[in-house]
Amino acid sequence: MAKSEVCKNCCPDGGAIFELDFGCWPHVSTKEWMAEPAWVKVCNNCGHYKPKRKSKPKLTFDEILNLTDETRLKNKRDRAIFHAFAEAGAWKKYKATCEEYAQNCKDNGIEKFPVVAHHWINTYHRDKLAEHQKESAWAVNYHVSRLKADAEKVKAMLAQDFPTREAQ
Ligand SMILES: [Zn+2]
Repeated sequence: MAKSEVCKNCCPDGGAIFELDFGCWPHVSTKEWMAEPAWVKVCNNCGHYKPKRKSKPKLTFDEILNLTDETRLKNKRDRAIFHAFAEAGAWKKYKATCEEYAQNCKDNGIEKFPVVAHHWINTYHRDKLAEHQKESAWAVNYHVSRLKADAEKVKAMLAQDFPTREAQ
């Protein structure tokens, strides 16, 4: 069963069935005829066509790198790139927290500390995000949440192990 939709020409409250058809039809609201035949969705009731919704262009890699938060991320590719590579993403935040922890250890003559704070060997989740084409949307979300959890862990270690450190 086809889903019923709004036809601005005959069914403004919904109930119209649209089907893909090739040819020229009048526009659903302007009533103007198409100049060239094409595949479009045509209303079964009145024979007017519905223009395809224009999809917003994909964010480029560089645009994703420059985002300052997650609000414009639309899909798993966007999320994976942002959290693996962007300055405001989960990996860079985790890395910065690890570097701060390592610096505090160094300043205090501590040589050994938990693996979770060694970002340079703890790259598993970041590497998975970098290869997001091979990963499912679920897996991408999982790796992002693990990165965020690791960052939180190191942040808590900072607060616990170096409570008197200067605030940055
Ligand atoms: Zn119609």
